[in-house]
Amino acid sequence: MRSLHENPETVGAKMSVLCSFCVHHVTVSGEAVNSNSVCGFPKYTAELYIAFFWKTGYNKEQGNRYRAEKQAISEVQRRSEEMKKKVFAMLTALVLAVCMLPSTVYADRNYTGLALEEGEWIYFNEGVPDASYTGFVDYMDASYLVCNGRACTELNGLQQNPADQKFYFLAEGRLQKHTGWAEYDNHWFILKDGQPDTGQTGLVEYNGGLFAAAAGQVLTDYSGLFLNAGDGIVNPDNRWYFLSNGQVQKQYSGLALYDGHWFYVQNGMLADSLTGIVPHDGAEFYVINGEVAGDYTGAVNYAGKNYLVIKGQVDYDNGTGQKVWIDLTAAKYHLRRDCSGMDNAFQVSVEKARELGRTACKKCFK
Ligand SMILES: [Zn+2]
Repeated sequence: MRSLHENPETVGAKMSVLCSFCVHHVTVSGEAVNSNSVCGFPKYTAELYIAFFWKTGYNKEQGNRYRAEKQAISEVQRRSEEMKKKVFAMLTALVLAVCMLPSTVYADRNYTGLALEEGEWIYFNEGVPDASYTGFVDYMDASYLVCNGRACTELNGLQQNPADQKFYFLAEGRLQKHTGWAEYDNHWFILKDGQPDTGQTGLVEYNGGLFAAAAGQVLTDYSGLFLNAGDGIVNPDNRWYFLSNGQVQKQYSGLALYDGHWFYVQNGMLADSLTGIVPHDGAEFYVINGEVAGDYTGAVNYAGKNYLVIKGQVDYDNGTGQKVWIDLTAAKYHLRRDCSGMDNAFQVSVEKARELGRTACKKCFK
């Protein structure tokens, strides 16, 4: 800016330094002047000016000549306009270069931190840009995430810091003390002061739903039975919950497979104290302490009703024939329960007994 306040001679001198081939034809105002130097046309210009005034208003031939001369004058003027523009562009570039100089060189060689350079926030280590730095840097009462020496001002929302792999909530690269839920790559996090709240482990309520979380991260990858217990669990109830993408399926009642075994879930929670007959998908099953008794075949009395259970599943004995007694192991079916000392005998139709491979007892059926 300093050079703009100098007198014209000084500016002219600067211009001649910048452009020695054209500056002699141009004053500070940029108009063409007469001189005998270099390019030739200034002298010609003077002659044309004379011709212009001399010929004005004469005959047609002179008129044509006048037009040709006028055209030549216009050409000269155009060229001097171009020169004028060139010189001013160079002068402007010089002024800008002088003005920008202080922003690219740091007076303080010991400066470590963020500084604006060419529109980007760069991390300087003792006055030198440090592209190897990744992590947070404090600047003006805020903390910025710097990635490879540059403040990541394009980052918003929950982001992962490459330096420690932890998650932070950002607004234009600046750490935000956000508390609440935030999403990252289809995973939900429970934040406190901009970071996952590691105290949030176990079951967490959100928007009327119940979710399983570990160290502030919702277990969105988790579906199936989940034991709410273990180290660091907040308010553990040591119960099993049925999850879908981390959310407790409170509306679900039915069987769920876990580790090769079937369990009965009631309203999203394992019915681990239930022993009896439970419904699932149009059928009924016999469960002992919430687990389907897949090895059990026999009679079950539950809630005042008798059931024939074959390998854990209720068998609807629709046989119309005579009822007979069988047990789990004996090869015969009997008319009398106390015949042949059967263990855990149960009653089925004779068709069912035959279907199960039993044959008639010769004592009962003579
Ligand atoms: Zn018998």
